[in-house]
Amino acid sequence: MVDYTNLIQQKREGKAHSAAEIKALVDGYLSGALADYQMSAWLMAVVLRGMTFEETLALADAEVDSGERLDLSPLGRPVVDKHSTGGVGDKVTLVLAPLVAACGAIFGKMSGRSLGHTGGTVDKLEAIPGFVTGMAPGDFIAQLRDIGVCVVSQGPELVPAEKQLYALRDVTATVESSPLIAASIMSKKIAAGSSAVVMDIKVGRGAFLKNRGQAAAVFHLMKKIGSARGVGVAGIISPMDQPLGRSVGNALEVLEAVEALRGAGPDDLVRVVTRIAAMCLVAADAGRQPEDAEAEAVKRLGDGSALEMFRQWIGAQGGDPAFIDDPGRLPGARHVLPVPAAADGYVGAIDALEVGRSLLPLGAGRMKQGDSIDHAAGLIIHAKCGAAVVAGERLAEIHANDLRLGREAAERVAAAFEIVPDVPATSLELIEL
Ligand code: URA
Repeated sequence: MVDYTNLIQQKREGKAHSAAEIKALVDGYLSGALADYQMSAWLMAVVLRGMTFEETLALADAEVDSGERLDLSPLGRPVVDKHSTGGVGDKVTLVLAPLVAACGAIFGKMSGRSLGHTGGTVDKLEAIPGFVTGMAPGDFIAQLRDIGVCVVSQGPELVPAEKQLYALRDVTATVESSPLIAASIMSKKIAAGSSAVVMDIKVGRGAFLKNRGQAAAVFHLMKKIGSARGVGVAGIISPMDQPLGRSVGNALEVLEAVEALRGAGPDDLVRVVTRIAAMCLVAADAGRQPEDAEAEAVKRLGDGSALEMFRQWIGAQGGDPAFIDDPGRLPGARHVLPVPAAADGYVGAIDALEVGRSLLPLGAGRMKQGDSIDHAAGLIIHAKCGAAVVAGERLAEIHANDLRLGREAAERVAAAFEIVPDVPATSLELIEL
């Protein structure tokens, strides 16, 4: 009989567990022998006391062992994946997935739904009429073989312990812990059978990780777990102080992704996408030079081949690609409300966290688990950081189906814009890890 209380006490005192003890905690939680309140106490002790690398690896292993594991080896080629630690307006996967496939590599991903103030790729894809995100493992593999790209939601058969733990962490203020984050992310990648994964580690106001030191620590833990379990891990740190691109909200982000696939996307989005695409291509073929890979990614965005791959991908997963040429086929909001500038000057900052939170009541994300999404809700930014504006000019527009909630969101978003008198320094720095 496992003495869970003793294990919680040991962690509270900063002692390290054995791999068997970690497994007992995870298995006990999944079976119900360890109650939510006990697991919450243990998680909080981990947040405060940390874990050794051996404990972190044991946690990732226990999460993987709690469910099935996909074997992608029948494909005979590496399957690359990308993971973002979560941001606002982060539609990178929508552009990256078909782009990497258009460049000849296989891109396979199991994605998540929106979390806290950040968006989720699965919710964005579900804004496309008919698009199916739930798929049996055999169909996932078949689509990867047929067209080289597939993005699905993670089924219940993979890492059930991670899912249960994550849901508990989300409501007990225990997300922000490097070992817990690293084990959570890597368990999903190992179970999904990825050969390599490129981490897009977001840092800044709108990210879970607030500084580069924390981001680098999580990355190195993930890389070490990957090395121990045969998954290549590369990564970049990318800024998440203001939202990425111009759109936030599910259908609006899908439309912005199409713009990027037509070669007309906003600079910040395109830069992150092409850099990560290059890293994915190098991960799939170690012989490729990063500069050549990035040049190819830029070319495929410009010559229509990535857009063509996007069309195929949407169709393969049951979606109707007609919206690509006729955006009116995506859900649209009843009301579009302006967010005016309060003064003359320059946009000095756009608080991504506050923007993300302001849009939740409209249904752009979930206030709590199980809430339904309004795919039409969101915002389009007209003036990003560094733009000169005059008082009354439209900084952004809110898309809402509920007028009262839309007005409230417009007020909050207006307050999230900082207008400064002098040209501010802006940076799009991407740091390769
Ligand atoms: N994203 C994840 O998948 N897991 C975490 O723990 C944090 C962010």
